[in-house]
Amino acid sequence: MTIFEQPLVKAVGAKAAKRLAALDLETAGDLLRHYPRRYAQRGELTDLDSLAEGEYVTVLAEVEKIQGRKISKRPGYLLEVTVTDGRGLLTLTFFGKGAYIPERELPPGTHGLFAGKVSFFGSGRHLKRQLVHPEYKPLAGGDLTGAAREFAEELIPVYPAAKGVTSWQIADCVRILLDAADLGDDALPEHVRRRHRLIGLSEAYQGIHRPRDMAEAGRARKRLKWDEAFVLQTALARRRRAAAELAATPRPPAAGGLLAAFDARLPFDLTEGQRAVGDEIAADLARTHPMHRLLQGDVGAGKTVVGLRAMLQVVDAGGQAALLAPTEVLAQQHHRSIVAMLGPLAQAGQLGGAEHATRVALLTGSQGAKARRAGLLDAASGSAGIVVGTHALLQEHVQFADLGLVVIDEQHRFGVEQRDALREKATGGRPHVLVMTATPIPRTVAMTVYGDLDTSALTQLPAGRSPIATHVVPSGNRAYWDRAWERIREEAAKGRQAYVVCPRIGDEEPSSSSSSPDDVPEDGPEDDGARRPPLAVLDVAPKLTEGPLHGLRLDVLHGRMHPDEKDAVMRRFAAGELDVLVATTVIEVGVDVPNATVMVVMDADRFGVSQLHQLRGRVGRGRHAGLCLLVTDAVEESKARERLDAVASTLDGFELSRIDLEQRREGDVLGESQSGRRSSLRLLTLLRDEEIIKEARAEATTLVEADPELRDHPALAAELATLVDEERAEYLEKA
Ligand code: ADP
Ligand code: MG
Repeated sequence: MTIFEQPLVKAVGAKAAKRLAALDLETAGDLLRHYPRRYAQRGELTDLDSLAEGEYVTVLAEVEKIQGRKISKRPGYLLEVTVTDGRGLLTLTFFGKGAYIPERELPPGTHGLFAGKVSFFGSGRHLKRQLVHPEYKPLAGGDLTGAAREFAEELIPVYPAAKGVTSWQIADCVRILLDAADLGDDALPEHVRRRHRLIGLSEAYQGIHRPRDMAEAGRARKRLKWDEAFVLQTALARRRRAAAELAATPRPPAAGGLLAAFDARLPFDLTEGQRAVGDEIAADLARTHPMHRLLQGDVGAGKTVVGLRAMLQVVDAGGQAALLAPTEVLAQQHHRSIVAMLGPLAQAGQLGGAEHATRVALLTGSQGAKARRAGLLDAASGSAGIVVGTHALLQEHVQFADLGLVVIDEQHRFGVEQRDALREKATGGRPHVLVMTATPIPRTVAMTVYGDLDTSALTQLPAGRSPIATHVVPSGNRAYWDRAWERIREEAAKGRQAYVVCPRIGDEEPSSSSSSPDDVPEDGPEDDGARRPPLAVLDVAPKLTEGPLHGLRLDVLHGRMHPDEKDAVMRRFAAGELDVLVATTVIEVGVDVPNATVMVVMDADRFGVSQLHQLRGRVGRGRHAGLCLLVTDAVEESKARERLDAVASTLDGFELSRIDLEQRREGDVLGESQSGRRSSLRLLTLLRDEEIIKEARAEATTLVEADPELRDHPALAAELATLVDEERAEYLEKA
């Protein structure tokens, strides 16, 4: 066992270990990787005016004034210590007998560390910040001893702390570990270290926890970022290699089959990109190893046709294909539109069915028993060449006669493990896998999150697309607001349709976590829970019917409606029997109604950037120009407003995904498997560390090619085993 796996009880003692448990730190490795948030320079005091209410903070400040007095009420004694950073003030409040101790220990002039939760009292110019019963540590002036001296000499690491465990207690425990322990063998091979000028392992941990200067901390960070990138890339390189060695049934293109018949009846020409990617996929499918390909393409790029053509090639070769969508609405829509596009080609065994015809089955989580049985039977018997579904397809009792290809649409909601689960469904070799993602992602994310896949991209939109204009509408401005509804009426008068999107359903959910995953808006980054609840579909719809949209045909769509009901509403909207659809983000992905031209997003600041881009992609899909109005009460120059302005300023999905990434925590980006509390990425940021990720990927690939089993790299193999265990543990927790 290396020091990293040692339980903290053993490494730092039971009492300290118990405190550290408050931060979810269980092993010495957890603690060593609990990195300082920043470093305080001695003499450089914390900016007290920047402290936000409710935040748990550790500040370095000087005692300015101290005032103790007896009070008549219990607990009888009140001590107020005022500390300063030279400008702002912070009040430390202690009550009761215990207050005599800080009174003695914190005479004016003392520099100290103070930790606690910030509360505000008073208001306006008299607003004061205070910490009630803070933990503190005086840092004496001239005659320093022991720990205080070390603080005087070094940068002071400021750790993410919590109630019951202060930053300096964490620092003390880390010191015990670093002084006592040999960190074991370095997982980063020496030739890699040398080539990229990286410092050694113990030096790195010393340097990040107890740097003498910022340059040392910087070298340590670089080295530890490398560790994160390298271990992950090695894992991905091994995945790619393992996949390349699996056997798959080749599904080569056949002349004169379904695919050819389909191409002949397509009402449009494929774009150059669709053709090129199609050729790539066709070649992949003909190989004896499974395809693992990611298809990227902006909203409306025409990915569905590409996926469908791949499926038809597999059906022509005698296999089956499954298409997986993240929501019921989307699965139903795919089913509907594939059946429509195939026409007689999807009517096997029916009157009017074409010669090579197949069947397209639908399987969703909550369809009726009869429909479900029929779908299951068609999948198992092989009479359905194409099976469309939601996650329900992953359930174990779904059997295929000969699953040859899995197409996963709108990938960002599927984790690596789910992909794996579906692959297990194939009998006699692994199926080929095509992942289609709607959100364009920056290269670094592709290399990390989808690092086990080959990638293709559709970079142009089909010709004849109409532009989409996007405007931010301040909800406080009555004139703008009225104009928004007027625009919907104008479009409806011309026979076109509109979406109104709200962040919430509004049927008195006991807690938002119980709402359907179809509806959940990704939280805006600064969501603080203290604001008014976001606007809800079920409140907004009747107000519109009675008010500004009176007389228009309007209905609602959200994730907690019965699936049949959802399907019925979507059909009516698609058929033009509704003018306005008031919906949650259930329409975010892939919904395709070319006649819809206007979208009004209510409380637009409650959505993420990429999500808004996705939503907006629902309009402007036909001959007519699209209009997207982002309604918000976010004030100008706020972060939220900046995000909306960014969305309004460009239609480039790649650009927006960069902006999105800048504003999110990495865990959110990495999704399922890497987002847990023990996320393997702590220092590495996907956006800023592109160079490291690229270099680490190249090194890892070379190393795995030369030594696939990592026989010459036992320390690296051990790191990898931990990473895989953690991923699995998190997956099980979620399952
Ligand atoms: P996305 O990439 O967002 O999934 P879709 O596959 O839903 O996009 O395609 C959007 C629309 O564009 C669909 O109505 C589809 O039929 C149409 N389409 C796809 N390819 C072409 C093309 N080459 N020319 C014209 N229209 C196309
Ligand atoms: Mg799509």
